Amino acid sequence: MVKKKEFIIFFLLFLLALFFVYIYNNITKAKDDIFDRIENHQIEQISSILKNIEKDILDSAEIKSSKDLFSLFNDENMRESYERIISLMLTSNVKYAYILYKDEKDRFRFLLDASKTDKAEFYQKFDVTLSEYEAIYREKKPQIIKQHDIENLYLTYLYPIISNGHVVGLFSIDITTNIQKIILESIKPLETFFVVLIIFILLLMAMTIMQIFHYFVTRKKIFTDTLTKTFNRNYLEEISSMLNLEHYSLAMLDLDKFKAINDTYGHKAGDYVLAQASRIFKDSIRDSDILIRYGGEEFLLLIHNRNDSESNIDICERLRHNVSKEHFYYDTNEIKVHVSIGLHKHPSLEKNIQEAIKIADGMLYIAKKNGRNRVIAYDELEHAKTSSSASSKDISYVKEALDDERVLCYFQPIYNHKSGEIFKYEALVRIVSKNNTVISPMQFLPQLKHTNMHYKLTQRILLIVFEKFRNNQKLVSININFSDLMNPDIEEMIIKNLKNNHHLASRITFEILESDEIDDVELFKQKINLLHSLKTKVSIDDFGSGYSNFKTIIDVEANFLKIDGSLIKNIDKNNKDFRVVKSIIHFARQSNMQTIAEFVHSKEVYEKLLLLDIDYMQGFYISAPEASLVEREELFKTAF
Ligand code: GH3
Ligand code: MG
Ligand code: MG
Repeated sequence: MVKKKEFIIFFLLFLLALFFVYIYNNITKAKDDIFDRIENHQIEQISSILKNIEKDILDSAEIKSSKDLFSLFNDENMRESYERIISLMLTSNVKYAYILYKDEKDRFRFLLDASKTDKAEFYQKFDVTLSEYEAIYREKKPQIIKQHDIENLYLTYLYPIISNGHVVGLFSIDITTNIQKIILESIKPLETFFVVLIIFILLLMAMTIMQIFHYFVTRKKIFTDTLTKTFNRNYLEEISSMLNLEHYSLAMLDLDKFKAINDTYGHKAGDYVLAQASRIFKDSIRDSDILIRYGGEEFLLLIHNRNDSESNIDICERLRHNVSKEHFYYDTNEIKVHVSIGLHKHPSLEKNIQEAIKIADGMLYIAKKNGRNRVIAYDELEHAKTSSSASSKDISYVKEALDDERVLCYFQPIYNHKSGEIFKYEALVRIVSKNNTVISPMQFLPQLKHTNMHYKLTQRILLIVFEKFRNNQKLVSININFSDLMNPDIEEMIIKNLKNNHHLASRITFEILESDEIDDVELFKQKINLLHSLKTKVSIDDFGSGYSNFKTIIDVEANFLKIDGSLIKNIDKNNKDFRVVKSIIHFARQSNMQTIAEFVHSKEVYEKLLLLDIDYMQGFYISAPEASLVEREELFKTAF
């Protein structure tokens, strides 16, 4: 959205300014022209009068030299009569008129002065500084001296008195500025008008330039991340519709164990390392590549296709290597950092950029899982197998929510109807959108499967729950799936928080989603055993929703079995469901598991379940999930 309007306005103002400068120029020219014409006219008139007087002087006496001229005017009568004649020339425009000559020592002297004011004496010395007085003797032609320094004088006209080819004296006529003044005065308002107009337009132009400048500065600001000086996600949004992915490969870069840098050296050191690492990234790529800070310490790199032999994997490897070899120094600490990179070589094969990002993020996750500080590129053959299930939904808002701490937990009570007490709470993830609406996990969890973000989300939930329940006496359930359990970071986090905190661990239940992902049953059992060894409880979630391996469930020695809502919600109406639930409860009893019914949404369902030997119930009839932990007294309030 380039501000075309401002450019057009600027251009029009520019044309207008040119136009007015042109008019102003013409006015000035016209003024000079008028001045010239008046001047010529005045001079012509004066010149023809002087010619007559010259003739009269030369004729009246035999003037052959300057001495003769001196002699002529030395006669007072003669002088007075010529003064009278010459004084006839004096008008409002002609102020002084006099005759000069050069004495034997080449000094100029007055022979006659017809002026009314400041009249000079006969033979008075006339000091000459201007070259025209000499030039007239050399050139024997009239001279014009433009007066700039003398007030009210416009020009001095010098006319030679020539006898026998020699200059014997000269007339000097001073012309005043009267006419020019009158003309100037009449033109001045017009000139001023145009000058003001031009200044005004120039100001407008300056303002427009400032606005355009301001636009570009803010535009740059909007699209630039302040810490790393790379582009930010706004920029990605801006360009994604115009971007031709065929020209790029797409990489997700994430600094390894960056949190540890913050924790060890402080947030400022983290900032410094982040800025330095992005500088290395920038120095290692070309102008045609696009580097975007995608999350906290995560970058999206669009690598423009190269003509040379360097492949996009080579480029990623180079980036990784350049960061790895660097030593950062902050205060007195030497800090090393590595980067993991997930690469999609042909993002244009995906439906859109979000989909390509998701795949690169998946590769990034594998890079992390395989030990970090490495590049994993996407294998398109593998892609052919999985792409049909891939969703094109944009999940970047989840990443944003994680960065902005807009991920939170709601808690739904699980009710013990036998004692009438709340048995425990189930923690349920929520995202608060930018416009403050709460987004339910159904809208984002399925898309997150197999992405690094999924694990980050689980980690965040674990952190929130551990914090909230660390110092109370209540029990809580956390949802976790098989692939979460396989994630070394999640495992590390669980161990770190629960190993030496029996008080917390014993009040936590991990609800393991029954899913078709449990391809390695042995590994699954190992992970569940780990949870048992930490003294946490294990619950099989959504039991009955799909294909279940009873043997595995018995093997893992779960403490609870949560019966899937699809079997509960119509239990008051559907006798078959009733019988299935009854036998599940029986199976659970036999296997030493307590049972929980979810989706208890009505009085009828609740009462039907009372007929069975179910242990706990959960659902909207009892209480909806809330941001805070509801108390016993608040249950059954929303009953309908
Ligand atoms: P992994 O190797 O799995 O990527 O581990 P990690 O610690 O790098 O990843 P995680 O996503 O768990 O932590 C990222 C950390 O980056 C958490 C957050 O506090 C930190 N972080 C995010 N943005 C900034 C920032 O602008 N400045 C600093 N100093 N730290 C940041
Ligand atoms: Mg990281
Ligand atoms: Mg990260």
